[in-house]
Amino acid sequence: MTSNAAPSTPDAPLLAVRDLKIHFPVRRGLLQRQVGTVRAVDGVSFEVARGATLGLVGESGCGKSTTGRGILRLVPPTSGSVQIDGREILTLDARALRNARGEMQMIFQDPYASLNPRMTILDLIAEPLWTHERVSSRDEALREVAGLMEMVGLSPSYMRRYPHEFSGGQRQRIGIARAIALRPKLVIADEPVSALDVSIQAQIVNLLASLQRELSLTYVFVAHDLAVVRHLSSEIAVMYLGRIVERARPDVLFRSPQHPYTQALLSAIPIPDPDVERKRQRLPLVGEVPSPLNPPSGCHFHTRCPYAMERCSAEVPPLVQRSPGHWAACHLPELPTAPAPP
Ligand code: SF4
Repeated sequence: MTSNAAPSTPDAPLLAVRDLKIHFPVRRGLLQRQVGTVRAVDGVSFEVARGATLGLVGESGCGKSTTGRGILRLVPPTSGSVQIDGREILTLDARALRNARGEMQMIFQDPYASLNPRMTILDLIAEPLWTHERVSSRDEALREVAGLMEMVGLSPSYMRRYPHEFSGGQRQRIGIARAIALRPKLVIADEPVSALDVSIQAQIVNLLASLQRELSLTYVFVAHDLAVVRHLSSEIAVMYLGRIVERARPDVLFRSPQHPYTQALLSAIPIPDPDVERKRQRLPLVGEVPSPLNPPSGCHFHTRCPYAMERCSAEVPPLVQRSPGHWAACHLPELPTAPAPP
């Protein structure tokens, strides 16, 4: 891990992740002997510019949520470097990490599980303000919470209510108000809309986009659905079994995916026009994600890839830049066909 760096310049990325690894020992038996290692995140690198959004996408079990949690040290990284605004996060001691938490916050997938059911909305949103001494009186806390509720589209008149009195979408708005209460620089949104009705999803994505403009937030938006991150992301990174397999701007990724896994994810997105839907070429994704405890050798995707060659099970394909800003990890220099983008 690198040492703490000097404060970054305005052009420097707000978030820089280098070769991040998060491995978990697997223990069994009475003596809890280590019998294996889950390589949940296995050498992930990316940068996110100030005020930009990285969409981190993949099926469940691909390591995207663990990457998000590792950046905030909610799970302990094994090695690598995470710099937020030029400051190394992975080497901070407990006290410095507590102070730094104000700069980096998380929005969780299940807003109900992340909100203490015995606390009022006022106390839930005010909690981080008290913890980080951003308010010094009850009146000040009331004013701050009312302002935050308005920012996320909730009436301050609801502040004495409890989480169970709200719908899923409203509860996610409460979770967002808590996350922005300390005016963080970086927000990791971990599948923030996957538990919500489709009709509500767009409202929450729009709210996140308007808060980003208003508060100059930088996001890492974790999702399993490429369609959800398409319009919010400045760049999308596709993960498979602990590694990034493709990175590009959303328009480029949707127009010309360079990795078969991305192709398969794209071809799973329904197209509203039935004629186009009928005619389009699909690359079905077969089988489940293999266990990260025993991932396939070489290219992890070779057990599900329709283009797999002998070389694919022996050699790990490096993530290489195929055109400016477009990175892919595949031994094929060009994919045979691409499904029509939705
Ligand atoms: Fe498929 Fe081989 Fe490319 Fe992996 S390296 S995605 S197995 S063609």
